[in-house]
Amino acid sequence: MLGMPSDNGLFMPENIPDHSNLVQGINELSFQDISYVIAKSILLEDFKNSEIEDIISTSISFDSPIVNIDSNINILELFHGPTLAFKDFGARFMARTMEKVVSNNDREINILVATSGDTGSAVANGFYDVEGINVIILYPSNKVSYIQEKQLTTFDKNIYALEIKGTFDDCQNLVKQAFLDDSLKSNLDLSSANSINIARLIPQSFYYFNAYAKLNSNKEIVVSVPSGNFGNITAGILAKHMGLPIKRFIASTNANKTVPEFLRTNQYISSESIETISNAMDVGNPSNMKRIMDIYHDLENLKKHLIAFSFDDEKTKKCVYDTWSAFNYLLDPHSAVGLLGLNQFIRLNPKYNGIFLGTAHPAKFSDVIESIINQKVDMPENLSNVINKEKNATLLNNDYKDFSDYLLTNFK
Ligand SMILES: *Cc1c(COP(=O)(O)O)cnc(C)c1O
Repeated sequence: MLGMPSDNGLFMPENIPDHSNLVQGINELSFQDISYVIAKSILLEDFKNSEIEDIISTSISFDSPIVNIDSNINILELFHGPTLAFKDFGARFMARTMEKVVSNNDREINILVATSGDTGSAVANGFYDVEGINVIILYPSNKVSYIQEKQLTTFDKNIYALEIKGTFDDCQNLVKQAFLDDSLKSNLDLSSANSINIARLIPQSFYYFNAYAKLNSNKEIVVSVPSGNFGNITAGILAKHMGLPIKRFIASTNANKTVPEFLRTNQYISSESIETISNAMDVGNPSNMKRIMDIYHDLENLKKHLIAFSFDDEKTKKCVYDTWSAFNYLLDPHSAVGLLGLNQFIRLNPKYNGIFLGTAHPAKFSDVIESIINQKVDMPENLSNVINKEKNATLLNNDYKDFSDYLLTNFK
C-alpha cells in the first residue's frame, strides 16, 4: 500500500521463494494454476487462501499465448487484456489486492501514477469504480499516442487525468516528490501504482513461468524484454531467482540507452528521456535498475546474466515492416525493439531458443504502424469504443507546488 519506502528507496522481498520444483511437469499446469502457486508463496501471510484464489481468477483472466514466428524466435503475446498492453497484468493484480486491503480498512486511498503511455490506462481500468480508491494519472502532454491519450482521459468516477507540460521523467519526479512530502501525506493517504510498486512486478513474474511451460522446449532459453523503466525485466529476473531456468535476459531499449551504455562503459549516467516511436519506453533513468543491482550486487556478475542493446527508430520501423512482409505478423513498435534484441543475440548464439515479449497490440500505435506498412490496422473493439469518447483532463505545469495544490484542493 505504501508503494515506496520513506527513505526514497524501493521495496524488495526479504526472501525470494524457491519454485524450482514447479518447473518439473509445469507444462501440465494452466496459467492460473501456476500463478496461484507463486502468489500463495508470497501473499499467504496477509491474505486468506480464498482471497488469493479470487485475486488470481479475476486478474489473470486472459491468455498470454506463445506464437512461433521463425525458427528459435517466439513472441509471448501479453496484450490480450482490456487495455491491450502487458501492464494489464500488474495493474489488475494490484487493484484486486489493494481492494481487499481497503475494504478491511475503510480509509480512502489516492493512487498517484505517472505514465509514459500504457500504465495509466491499465491502472485506471483495473481500479475503475473501486470503492474507497481514487486514481490520479500524470501523463506528459503531447508525448503519448492519440489512442493512448483517449484511453487515459475518458474515464469518469474515481479516475482523474492530469496532463503535465513536461516529459515522463518529470511526471515521475512529481510523484516521487509527493511521496517525500510529509505535510502532503499528513493530509492525504497516498499510494503509487508505478512499476516501482512491487505489487506490479509480482504478477508479471507469473507469465515468465507460463511462457516456459507453453514453449516446452528442450533447448536453453533466452528472453528479450523491450525495456523502459525496467519493471518487466525485473519481474523476469525475479522469476529466474525463483528457479525458472532462463539462461540469459536481453534488455532491448530504444534510443534511451542508459542501461546498454552502463554495461558497455561500466558507468551509470542517467539522461533526459528522448522521444521515440516506442514512447512507453522513453525513460532516461530507469527506476528498477536499483532492484536489479540489488539482486546481482556488482557489475561483473550482472553482465553474466544480462546483456543490453539499443535500437533507433529507423531500425524499429524496418523490423515492423520486415516482420510483416516476411512472416505476415504485425508488431507494435515496442515489441519490435524486443525482436531486434533477440535477433541480435540469436544470430550469434543459434543453439538457444528465444522468446521476446510482445508488450502491446499494434492497433494501440496505429498512427505509426499504418505509415510503416501503408495499410489500415484493424481496431479491436476495446479501442474503437474509447475513440468516440470526450477527452477530460486537467492541464498542469511541471511544477510541484501546482501539483500539490491540485491534490489538496481536490482530494481532502
Ligand atoms: C511500459 C511498456 C514497456 C516498458 O516496460 P518497463 O517495465 O517500463 O520496462 C514496453 N512496452 C510497452 C508497450 C509498455 O507499455
